[in-house]
Amino acid sequence: MNTEQFRKAGYQAIDRICEYHDTLRDRPVSSQVEPGYLRKLLPLQPPPPLKAKTSSSSRMIIKNTSYLVLTHWQHPSFYAYFPTSSTFEGILAELYASSTSNPGFNWAASPACTELEAVVMDWTAQLLGLDKAFYNISEVGGGVIQTSASDSVLVSTVAARSRYIREHPDVAMEKLVIYTTTQTHSLGKKSGLVLGLTVRALDVTAQDNFALRGDTLKVALEEDIKAGLHPFILIGTVGTTSSGAVDRLDEIADVAKHYPSLWLHVDAAWAGVAFACPEYREAYQLPAINEYVDSFCTNFHKVCLLLFRGISLELIDILQWGLIHFDGSCLWVRHRQHLIDALDITPEFLRAKNGNAATAIDYRNWHVGLGRRFRSLKFWFGLRARGVKGIQKYITDCIKLNNKFSQSIYESDLFSVVTKPSLAITVFRLAPKALPHLRTPELNTLNRAFYARLAARNDIAITQTDLNGVFCIRMVIGSEKTLESDVEHALELMKDEAMISLKNWEVIGNGRGRKTSVILSQTH
Ligand SMILES: *Cc1c(COP(=O)(O)O)cnc(C)c1O
Repeated sequence: MNTEQFRKAGYQAIDRICEYHDTLRDRPVSSQVEPGYLRKLLPLQPPPPLKAKTSSSSRMIIKNTSYLVLTHWQHPSFYAYFPTSSTFEGILAELYASSTSNPGFNWAASPACTELEAVVMDWTAQLLGLDKAFYNISEVGGGVIQTSASDSVLVSTVAARSRYIREHPDVAMEKLVIYTTTQTHSLGKKSGLVLGLTVRALDVTAQDNFALRGDTLKVALEEDIKAGLHPFILIGTVGTTSSGAVDRLDEIADVAKHYPSLWLHVDAAWAGVAFACPEYREAYQLPAINEYVDSFCTNFHKVCLLLFRGISLELIDILQWGLIHFDGSCLWVRHRQHLIDALDITPEFLRAKNGNAATAIDYRNWHVGLGRRFRSLKFWFGLRARGVKGIQKYITDCIKLNNKFSQSIYESDLFSVVTKPSLAITVFRLAPKALPHLRTPELNTLNRAFYARLAARNDIAITQTDLNGVFCIRMVIGSEKTLESDVEHALELMKDEAMISLKNWEVIGNGRGRKTSVILSQTH
């Protein structure tokens, strides 16, 4: 492809991207293809080069492989997992970044790549209200963009382990223990797998809304230390994936103060971005994070972005809303030296002058890979486009929508909330008030059938979870295009599917003689 061909194909690609975004609402949110569908459509050998004039069958395949057979994470009816941002600013930033492909592993390898990252991480730290100790400008702590929250935990665990071993040189590796809770994201277990270390998941209860309490940690530490084990890191969570639970970091810090070698890492992959709004800082434990934790991570690409919500397309052109495109996981550490001590394999005599000082950071020592992408560009584009106020407004709008949804669940005769709704997530289940005698096993069977009906539809994407043996549905609101009317529609659709599930359930003999019509009349 020469420059002229690139120019033409590039314009065409942008046109296609615009069309995709403009027609997203009219598409099914998830596709219904079977695994292996694509292999049947594509040749077995690497394909010959595309001719300028592509045959219609190739065009069909290109279409099928791109937009038709995707799960559309930015669709207004996407309530599954956690939304990820996709903005025009982000797309442009990625385009610019790819135009100068460079693996900026240290300052000299690409000064702008390093320096912009150091600056945008400080801006982002300020946006969230993080303590100045975490700023790069402190030259002691600092922030770095990682690929994922799992990478952030992995390097934090490596740093914690190397600090612990330095302080306790006689301890055998097999005696080291990573603490998580039963609600921690799989990144806790994975970190243990990768490093060959034991993981202990501490229990949390429904009464505590699945948050880790200080007393539970204290008992575990005493037990393990007595047994000759060495817990060296606790991975706490602000906003668990399953239900949005927030570990009691204030209580945890009080206990951990007596165990200064225990590293505290906080995974706030999706909820952490809410710290941009000062009103959520206290309740979601920012004071304890600022005062005590060693490392903190949030995924900026998970920010609930509402690109088109409530504003006209013309306004979007003028205001140029936008934020951070996948991937952009932010990790901050209180002491960068611990990361460097653990991950720098450069002999002293080869260390660059000013390496890791101020903004001339050798970021290769802050993560597993050597090379890195120019991801700070999309932070720069996003933050500049929207500004602090714009980001705050979008987060609060998103939370307001979830509050409305959870209110409807609280008031519903069909559904009930399983644990306290948290920011953008509501975890609930089908539990008709007209059938108060139902126990957990029966409700689980009923809810599995209900969820299977929702999962079979292609006009809503929603996921399930299990909270200490209770099967439930998790609704996450935050796709860019979701309007209040979409959420109302989703609720109606869920009511319809719930009624059908109840009817089927009674037919197969589970209704204990209660007539569906009774439930119908009492619940509608
Ligand atoms: C989404 C999420 C993660 C995801 O981890 P990645 O490694 O970034 O994919 C981790 N923790 C929590 C709490 C999450 O919600």
